[in-house]
Amino acid sequence: MITRDEAIALDRDDPLAVFRDRFVITEPDLIYLDGNSLGRLPKATVERVRATMVEEWGNGLVGSWRSAWISQPAELGAQLAPLIGADPDEVLMTDQTSVNLYKLAAAALEVQAPRSTVLTDSGNFPSDVYVLSGVAEQAGGSLRMVDSDGGAPSAESIAAALDERVGLVSLSHVNFKSGALLDMDLVTSVSHDAGALTLWDLSHSVGAVPVDLRGAGADLAVGCTYKYLNGGPGAPAFLYVARRLQEKLTQPIRGWWGQQDMFGFDLDYRPAAGMSRFATGTMPMLSLAAAREGIEISAEAGIEQLRTKGKALTSLMVDLFDSLPSKYGFTLGSPRSPEQRGSHVSLRHDDGYRIAQALIGRGVVPDFRAPDLVRLGAAPLYTRFVDVWDAFTRLRDIMERDEHRHYSDQPSGVT
Ligand SMILES: *Cc1c(COP(=O)(O)O)cnc(C)c1O
Repeated sequence: MITRDEAIALDRDDPLAVFRDRFVITEPDLIYLDGNSLGRLPKATVERVRATMVEEWGNGLVGSWRSAWISQPAELGAQLAPLIGADPDEVLMTDQTSVNLYKLAAAALEVQAPRSTVLTDSGNFPSDVYVLSGVAEQAGGSLRMVDSDGGAPSAESIAAALDERVGLVSLSHVNFKSGALLDMDLVTSVSHDAGALTLWDLSHSVGAVPVDLRGAGADLAVGCTYKYLNGGPGAPAFLYVARRLQEKLTQPIRGWWGQQDMFGFDLDYRPAAGMSRFATGTMPMLSLAAAREGIEISAEAGIEQLRTKGKALTSLMVDLFDSLPSKYGFTLGSPRSPEQRGSHVSLRHDDGYRIAQALIGRGVVPDFRAPDLVRLGAAPLYTRFVDVWDAFTRLRDIMERDEHRHYSDQPSGVT
């Protein structure tokens, strides 16, 4: 078993250690293992948002649309593109992940008619399942679900569920519960062989796991920027449309920001060229300003280095899990192989909710995902090896003393 000093030595040798200082950390003793739900605040974001408010809004007023704002959604998309293996003109920052998923799924089914079945897996994020079932029903079809068996669906089970009715396959690249990572190349190719388009949700991949949309031949993708990209609460999401599909697809929410000449104010909707057609209404400039720094920091750190550290951190979590006495009752809810998981590790326990509460009481912030997962996120930009070591020490202490039994076992509100 690794010692605390050895964990400290890993931090000393960590090439990404310098990035921790780029974030606002007001409680140095707090161990934050929930950067996969809401990333930390970059220090530079504070000044950037202030400047956007005071200078661009306060002084520049409406003129700032022309001088600074109108191009932001495309510029930020271009900045994010290398992190997901896309070209700069294939990504747009706009709306929320759920809304973008709706827009792209509906656009895909329109060109895939009469195919109107959407295929996903039972472990996908509920919002995705709701949106996809709604889109499929609107197209006269339905949602078909592959059983992911608590992890991620295999490419074989996806291939087996494909037929001539499936127009779209939409899956999360990294599963939000187990952290299981899907083989994007293989799933995309089996889907294409069956005549379906693919729509990937990259919410738990972007900024933590290299994604190569171009290399996989992927068609469509969405994802959020407030997790590993540290874009802030409710930061605008992104959407990706492969260049070869951009002129073929039209999105269902026709708004003036997606119109060819938005200031022509003409009443006939003609979709703009390129990615602009996937925009709808006025973009949230303060939130876009807040999101920029997080994307820049991740690009600067480099996705390969982020992945290397993320794998090392989650491997340390798995090693420390293995060293817990079995009498505590935990099982591993994530793949053992670092190649097969994203940047979080889930521990399963029947008393998971109370244990998550007890950890928070001890200054360790995980989150809880029903029914029994304590999710530990390893955001590589600011999580230290010693944080992981200390978190497991506190967990052992809690279990030894049955401290979690002092907490309510009724999940309520935000978990
Ligand atoms: C976090 C997350 C979302 C978030 O959707 P919003 O519309 O931004 O709330 C969507 N899908 C997955 C897989 C996620 O992990």
